[in-house]
Amino acid sequence: MRIIVIGAGVLGASAAFHLARTGAEVSVIDANLDGRATAAGAGILCPWISATEDVSFHRLYCAGGEYYPDLITALNDAGPSDLGYRQAGAMLVSGDAEELAWLERMARRRAAAAMGRITRLGEAQARTLFPPLHQGLGAVHLAGGARVDGRRLAASLLRAAEFHGAKLSRGHATLAVEADRVAGAEIDGRRIRADRVIVAAGAWADKLLRPIGFATAVEPQRGQIAHLRLDGVKTSDWPVILPPGSHYIVPFDAGRIVAGATRETGAGFDYRITAAGQAEVLSEALRIAPGLGTATTIETRVGFRPLAARPLLGWVPGIQGLATGNGLGAAGLTIGPLAGRLLADLVTGEAGLIDLTPFDPARRERSAFGALAALR
Ligand code: FAD
Repeated sequence: MRIIVIGAGVLGASAAFHLARTGAEVSVIDANLDGRATAAGAGILCPWISATEDVSFHRLYCAGGEYYPDLITALNDAGPSDLGYRQAGAMLVSGDAEELAWLERMARRRAAAAMGRITRLGEAQARTLFPPLHQGLGAVHLAGGARVDGRRLAASLLRAAEFHGAKLSRGHATLAVEADRVAGAEIDGRRIRADRVIVAAGAWADKLLRPIGFATAVEPQRGQIAHLRLDGVKTSDWPVILPPGSHYIVPFDAGRIVAGATRETGAGFDYRITAAGQAEVLSEALRIAPGLGTATTIETRVGFRPLAARPLLGWVPGIQGLATGNGLGAAGLTIGPLAGRLLADLVTGEAGLIDLTPFDPARRERSAFGALAALR
């Protein structure tokens, strides 16, 4: 079976990898657009404490986080890969004892095996694990919290897809549809024929699907995110820091610390670092961790989260052979690898690991809810 995947963010790259493993003839097309969400994502993997009230979404989110060990095993079959993945834990931090007690109760109520041990930490213990932390903050530590580097993740998935025979093309794709069936895709006027096409074009999906009569209701939500470096400091084992609200701090190896992020709905595809965006992420990070004040600012990334009421995973109604995956919002680095596997199973006719009915593109809703509320 010949299958085209349009979009090589985490979702498309994962679909391509899982498809190529089955022996399908896979072509991946990506336009390398500015603002690709996967290239900007922070990389927090800690779905269990999400504030969403959408039960189907919450299940998918947790299953996504819990899919990582299987994914890493599968990727290693195609050669060693480095996703920047590390289960260094996550700390929910607060200076308010009542809030910490509530957070601990909430975590214990939702406890899942993959969440690991839940431990209440006092100020000194919390600062031992994350030295730049503000004085007076306590924490609830979740041992199963992890981080991943979105760029390395997508690159590893693509490398493994190519290992299994997938072909990668750079270029801007449009859909080729004949009557009510997808016939393939076109890049720069060149047609590539296929039996099935998966559109995994993130926030840009509407530009592909609207011309053939399907509106996804996915919109871009701009996120600006700062990268800092603490020279000579060993940060590999530091946990992800989750204060109340939507900001966070994510430590990586070699002193790199990521401080995020803005959530700018309505900014469209305006690919810019703004003064207000930069000020917001830095001041929020320093409020929680003043010890980062001496860090070097090394870069700010901008990404467009594909925001939808709920993820879309399934067949596009009215066009045979055309599937889409989208709307992973603020949770796509967590859900993306599993969602790619689910799409691969769908198009090859395999029984999926999860029932995709709640995410059927034909059922899309217009109000932003699930994905918007995903990360607390
Ligand atoms: P994208 O990564 O945007 O990929 C879409 C791809 O399609 C792009 O590569 C683009 O070039 C390509 N494309 C589009 N149109 C065409 C076309 N016509 N032809 C060819 N190619 C095309 N998630 C988490 O789980 N944890 C986090 O901590 C986290 N933090 C985030 C922080 C920020 C600042 C942002 C922006 C996002 C964050 N996310 C996080 C969310 C996550 O990054 C996204 O949900 C996820 O990366 C979306 O992946 P995608 O593959 O759907 O889209």
